[in-house]
Amino acid sequence: MTKSKPKAVGRRRFLKDAAVTAAVVAGQGPVAGAQQPSADDHEHETVPADIALRVRALETVLVEKQMVDPAELDAVVDAYENRIGPRNGARVVARAWVDSVYKARLLDDANAAAAELGYEGAQTGHLVVVENTADVHNLVVCTLCSCYPWPILGLPPVWYKSAPYRSRAVIDPRGVLREFGLELGDEVEVRVWDSTADIRYLILPERPAGTESMTEEELAEIITRDSMIGVSKITPPPTGDAV
Ligand code: FE
Repeated sequence: MTKSKPKAVGRRRFLKDAAVTAAVVAGQGPVAGAQQPSADDHEHETVPADIALRVRALETVLVEKQMVDPAELDAVVDAYENRIGPRNGARVVARAWVDSVYKARLLDDANAAAAELGYEGAQTGHLVVVENTADVHNLVVCTLCSCYPWPILGLPPVWYKSAPYRSRAVIDPRGVLREFGLELGDEVEVRVWDSTADIRYLILPERPAGTESMTEEELAEIITRDSMIGVSKITPPPTGDAV
């Protein structure tokens, strides 16, 4: 499955543009070739220029003092942007689907169970896995900011960090799910889990019917990021030949 990705802007280019924008804001005049912020930029879709400027200033000082290696910094950012992502979580879920003993360990001690597959590190905190069933649907949010299990799911999506999602997921979770295309019956209990820096959640989605013959690897392919946040269910694969 392929998904359209947001426009990629290199980190160094982004920081450079932010610094230029900040210079303009500071009254130092426009700079040829600088990207200007759009009036309709959503507040959560761009990092504020002052934050990017602070990052750039801090990085410059640390590099000049030879306290950090810029190549190492780029490697860390590249790891979270490109190499670590929801595929890790999908492998955890697929393993739980095919191995009930692993699933029990995952629900009991998610950090240890994820580490068995090699997924651990910063931004995991105390990982808790909650299971969706026919009767209970779980949804994850971070009402304060954007806490998210990075080593398991990669970087959080933009909407996860947005103020409307963070507030409405708690106030009106069924309405939010409806907007994501998920209509739940009144008989289904909805539980909302508020992540923090200390406790982060991963949803164990329901395994769809019709997947009994699929291998663990094939199952991992159909498990989506959104299903592990709880804003969607997993669509069963097409069944057999068309009649
Ligand atoms: Fe947060």
